[in-house]
Amino acid sequence: MSYFCQKGLDRFFEKAVQMARIPQHALEKLKRDVDLVGLITASGVKLEKKGGNLVGLCPMHDDKEPSLVVTPSKNLWNCLGACGTVIDWVMQSQGVSFRRANSQGNLE
Ligand SMILES: [Zn+2]
Repeated sequence: MSYFCQKGLDRFFEKAVQMARIPQHALEKLKRDVDLVGLITASGVKLEKKGGNLVGLCPMHDDKEPSLVVTPSKNLWNCLGACGTVIDWVMQSQGVSFRRANSQGNLE
């Protein structure tokens, strides 16, 4: 993940946290503890090992060859310049609101 991408996400989360009034520590715990690989495979995406990463067809765009890369050691994903944490995944793959994404994560 590029530095620029990470920086943008941090700003995004700052704003999201303020809007949804979710404590920062709860959010950090969520991003760390929820199994991203399990979450992605549960949504029907087949992931294959490639080095230290997992790759698969991205469900968020018309993907012909695996563009989705998941890094289990960091619990992060990226695809064609988009990247993020478990929360970004739930929001972007299901188009749910931030608040809903957060409560789904808590059920894990
Ligand atoms: Zn994609």
